[in-house]
Amino acid sequence: MRARYRFAEWALAAHSEVRFIGECLDCGERCVDTESADDAQGWCLKHAGLTGDRRFEMKGFQLFTAYLTNAAADGAPPAT
Ligand SMILES: [Zn+2]
Repeated sequence: MRARYRFAEWALAAHSEVRFIGECLDCGERCVDTESADDAQGWCLKHAGLTGDRRFEMKGFQLFTAYLTNAAADGAPPAT
């Protein structure tokens, strides 16, 4: 699936689905990024059980490439 957001003559092409990372704010350890928010939260709960740490943050991110929509040399979205 590809989403595009236009700003003037530029557009963005998404290169991935949204991914999530759970991070412990007490020790800085984090899980491997995952497509599942539930899996990232599950890692936080497991980490709390193992360490006693209690403060967590979950971050979501998605990769994009910006490209010019009206320039012949750079008009096509990059191949994914
Ligand atoms: Zn921790």
